[in-house]
This record gives sequence, C-alpha cells and structure tokens, in this order.
Amino acid sequence: MMKVGLIGWRGMVGSVLVERMRAEDDFALFEPVFFSTSQAGAVAPEVGRPCPPVGDAHDLRSLTACDTLVSCQGGDYTQAMHPRLRAAGWRGHWIDAASTLRMQDDAVIILDPVNRPAIEAGIAGGRRDWIGGNCTVSLMLMAFGALFRAGLVEWLTSMTYQAASGAGAQHMRELLAQMGRLHGAAAALLANPASAILDIDRVAAAAFTDPALPVAQFGQPLAGSLLPWIDRDLGNGQSREEFKAGAEGNKILGTGAEPIPIDGLCVRIGAMRCHSQAVTMKLTRAVPLAGIETLLEQSHPWLRLVPNEREASLARLTPAAVTGRLDIAVGRIRQLAMGPEYLTAFTVGDQLLWGAAEPLRRMLRLLLDAR
Ligand code: NAP
Repeated sequence: MMKVGLIGWRGMVGSVLVERMRAEDDFALFEPVFFSTSQAGAVAPEVGRPCPPVGDAHDLRSLTACDTLVSCQGGDYTQAMHPRLRAAGWRGHWIDAASTLRMQDDAVIILDPVNRPAIEAGIAGGRRDWIGGNCTVSLMLMAFGALFRAGLVEWLTSMTYQAASGAGAQHMRELLAQMGRLHGAAAALLANPASAILDIDRVAAAAFTDPALPVAQFGQPLAGSLLPWIDRDLGNGQSREEFKAGAEGNKILGTGAEPIPIDGLCVRIGAMRCHSQAVTMKLTRAVPLAGIETLLEQSHPWLRLVPNEREASLARLTPAAVTGRLDIAVGRIRQLAMGPEYLTAFTVGDQLLWGAAEPLRRMLRLLLDAR
C-alpha cells in the first residue's frame, strides 16, 4: 500500500483537503502519515483508520520513508525541504499547493479536468513533481478551458474579484473583524429608523481610519472597500498575481512556443472564499452563443451554466451561492458591442476546492490508479 505523508494539513488548504479526502473515502486507499512543523508527537487527525502520532515535518528520514508527500505547508517549507529530499536521493512523488516549483520545467501544474493528458504523459514519463496551480488561474481554466481547447480563444482578459481566503486563514478572520467594527460604529444609528443616512455613512467612513480597525493582515480596510493589488509588485506595472494568469495558464494549456495572451487586473474584495472573474475574450471566429454554451456545458461535470437572466444570475452566480461547493458557475455570457467575436462572461468558483485542495487529492488518486 502506498505510504503517503501529509504536511500542512492543519492549515486552510490542508484542512479542506483532509475534509474532501474523508468525504471521498480516500484514506482507505493508502497508508497516511501526518507531519507538522509545530505539532510533532500529537495525535493524528481522525481519518477512519489508525495513524501513527504526528511526525516532525523536518525529519528527512521519516519523510523519505514515504512513497508520496503531499504538502500544503507553504512556499518557504517547499523551498527548504524539496531540494534536501531530492538531494538525499528520495524519488517519491511530491504533490504541492505552493507556487515555488510551478514554473520549473520538470514540474507539472495539475488541473486534471483541463490537462489530464499532460498529467498522464508526465506519469508515464517518470515525472515526480506535481504542483497545484494558482487558485484564480485554475478557476478561470475550469470555467473556460473548453474554449481554449477548441482553439477559439485569440486572447482573454480577466478582471478578478478575489476572496479573503486566497490570502490565508488569518485574512478571513480579519475581514470578519473589520465588518464587525464597521457595523459596531454605526450600530446605534442603524437601530433608529429615523437616523440620517449621511450620519450613518460618516461614522462608517470614520471607522476606516480608526486605529482600532484591525489591518495587520491586509494592511488596509477591505470591508466596505476593495484592494486593487494582490501579491508582489513586479516593477513593470503588473502584480505577481496578474503575471501568473498568462504564465501558469499557458503552461497548463500546453501552448508552448505560441502562448495565448491572458492578462488582466486582480482585485481583492470582501468575499470569504469564492473568487469571481469577469472575462472578455476575443474569439478566433464568431460562434453563435448556443455553440459556446454547449462547449462549456460539456467540458466537465462540475460546470454549472447560469442563464444570462437577472434572477438566475443574482441567485446562482455569486460567492454566497457557490461557497463550499465544487460547482464552477459560469454565466452573463453575451457578445459585446465591439463585434460578434468579442465575448464576455462571469464565473464564480470556490478557490479552496478547485482553486486549491481538489486538484491535489485527485492527483493522488491518479498516482494510486497508476500503480
Ligand atoms: P495556512 O492556513 O497559513 O497554513 C499553513 C501552516 O501554518 C499549517 O499547515 C500549520 O503548520 C501552520 N499553522 C500555524 N498555526 C496554525 C493554526 N493556528 N491553525 C492551523 N495551522 C497553523 O496556509 P494556507 O492558506 O493553507 O496555504 C498553504 C499553501 O497553499 C501556501 O503555499 C499557499 O500559497 C498555497 N495555496 C493557498 C491557497 C489559498 O486559498 N489559501 C490556494 C492555493 C494555494 P504546522 O502544522 O506545521 O504548524
């Protein structure tokens, strides 16, 4: 039986991963060993079978005893441990949520509903590093991958509305704390139906600059506002999050020497755990909307097409409707005034599921099936 070490299972992505593995009964298929950088010796989580106590995530000997390691621990850990494991001669499979190894030539970015042939070719060819894609890129390709595959996309630009969860557990907590502060500032006025709206607005706006507003994680108010920059500044006007769309997107699509331009602006909004994206595509030729919808609907079992109508869009194409679900909702599809080959659409997906944990657990399944 394959021995699988799980690192980072206490974190946000790792917790969702373990939850999904429990739900799909994955733990029956391999021998799990849990590791932690801070909890070595603790009792392992309940997964329906006996597990040894939690191991030390820096102990090379215990790690190299595993056939496969799944890490949701973060980039610093990958940077520190992956080279040491390989240098020690470990030839096991490394499945990782962190971005560190994604763009390396011998690493495969895993999103099997979109690039399963590349993954299978990698397994057959002896690849051993399997890296989950950036959450926004994975969700965009889960939504529109079929149009790329059909050779219909000349270029795509995406304006994102990204949730707090993309930045980690502490950021989700801070968003809620900020919301509470804003509400608290206006609570007395809100309780009185006769309060003037400008008075309510004034106290809420004053809360943005109140030193008591928690901003340690985001650095700025997000509740009642938004943040038009995500990840590092690359110094060329582009954020690192925006760079990933084209770089990782084309790597997953396997476009090689002829990359498709994919670019846009990435914006953090006050949603909890679903990323939304408004995309504009220039198609390589005009295609009737019915044909586009058929291609999308048939792309994979999780795609949920939402009719481009007001009620359906407001009820089913929102973070509140999609959160906690594997559904990739796609709607607002229409041709733009610029011409029939200019298509717009809106998509929402849970970035902790298809954007993070789900490709990892499915990769482990593919490796188990290949044995
Ligand atoms: P996270 O929630 O910060 O967890 C990372 C580690 O922090 C845990 O495994 C745990 O390690 C440690 N930790 C310390 N105190 C903790 C506490 N009170 N509760 C739980 N864990 C605690 O990180 P994450 O957001 O899951 O991200 C992990 C990796 O996935 C990163 O490389 C990230 O870039 C990548 N990723 C994240 C997302 C996302 O949506 N957040 C999406 C795609 C990829 P020990 O057990 O060793 O202490």
